[in-house]
Amino acid sequence: MTERIGTTCVQGGYRPGDAQPRQIPIYQSTTWKYDTSEHMGKLFDLEESGYFYTRLQNPTNDFVAAKICELEGGSAAMLTSSGQAANFFAVFNIAGCGDHVVASSAIYGGTYNLFAHTMARMGLEFTFVSPDCTDEELEAAFRPNTKCVFGETIANPALDVLDIERFAAAAHAHGVPLIVDNTFPTPVMCRPIEWGADIVTHSTTKYMDGHGAAVGGAIVDSGNFDWMAHADKFPGLTTPDVSYHGVVYAEKFGLEGAFITKATAQLMRDFGSIQSPMNAFLLNMGLESLHVRMPQHCKNGQAMAEFLSEHPKVRFVKYPGLPTDPYYKLAQKYLPNGSCGVVSFGFTGGRAAAEQFMKSLKLAQIATHVADARTCVLHPANATHRQMNDVELEAAGIAPDMVRLSCGIESTEDLIADVEQALATI
Ligand SMILES: *Cc1c(COP(=O)(O)O)cnc(C)c1O
Repeated sequence: MTERIGTTCVQGGYRPGDAQPRQIPIYQSTTWKYDTSEHMGKLFDLEESGYFYTRLQNPTNDFVAAKICELEGGSAAMLTSSGQAANFFAVFNIAGCGDHVVASSAIYGGTYNLFAHTMARMGLEFTFVSPDCTDEELEAAFRPNTKCVFGETIANPALDVLDIERFAAAAHAHGVPLIVDNTFPTPVMCRPIEWGADIVTHSTTKYMDGHGAAVGGAIVDSGNFDWMAHADKFPGLTTPDVSYHGVVYAEKFGLEGAFITKATAQLMRDFGSIQSPMNAFLLNMGLESLHVRMPQHCKNGQAMAEFLSEHPKVRFVKYPGLPTDPYYKLAQKYLPNGSCGVVSFGFTGGRAAAEQFMKSLKLAQIATHVADARTCVLHPANATHRQMNDVELEAAGIAPDMVRLSCGIESTEDLIADVEQALATI
């Protein structure tokens, strides 16, 4: 019997045997002890699997990664210290100095900075394409040294929906994988691997944790991408790793294991962006209710978007669940049961009205966070983007009056009443 997603949320990744702890144990230990150095040597040679140092792997993290792997329908997964680390590792594992990446322009600002500035300093080149670009424009973005395509299922904060099948087909036609950041829908609302994505990343800081408790990230490999079939493009996976006794990851660990093993043995070893086992434990507590929380986030987001779209003081609403939204059709295809709880909107009264609205909210809390059980709200022009003037904001696609409202899982009527009374003060 195929297990339903709610069962995996609750019980996936860790199935205790007889007389074992019911909850995932927190292995709060940096190191493991061995009786012989021969045994330890085998671990270092990747001859045997086992634990020796938490910077590379920790059992608590691996239990939780295994749950996320099952949720996404992948073959292998790892946790990282943050969503930023997950996206960095996912790309840098297959693209280095002199390589090129095609990325959607509708991505999280932190990821854009990572790509366009920090990874550019490391010698990688990025071409950003609109998720709405034509097939010809997408095709024109590829170069002989392109190593992957990157996008977000639902962009934070733009709320554009990625046509995963179209981007996957373009990537595969060029012999490279599609990496999809699935933070906003989570595997409860969309499983990008089923639509052709090869690698899925997450900021687990958001809905997966869901309680604003721990920063974290995850990478899931589908096991579908055939590195050996494109061996010349991916020498890091298909030729000996001199830093690991000449192991050829794609040969030794196969389709299912090569990508995550390399990212663990090489990138985690060298960059050390491990998630703390305590945080992995907290993340797992969030995952246990993810399938119960997501529908409520979506219900609140949908009701809020509908309420706002009929309000005379509201200038525009962005939400992929609104039939008038440009991404409605794609959302119906990829997110048939709902998208997320985040709604963006602006005010007929402009920036001053947005400021008055923010001041008047009572339930919704001002925070840079999104995708949390508690409703939170941000006015980017006055917070994350406050160094920009109104002209620069428009150029960056952020209206000066735009507010991002992340609907939590409180009672729908109370959230709408709060927004209604705040709108009334304008
Ligand atoms: C927040 C976020 C990130 C970055 O994750 P952190 O855990 O904050 O490092 C990456 N992608 C998306 C879509 C996000 O929302």
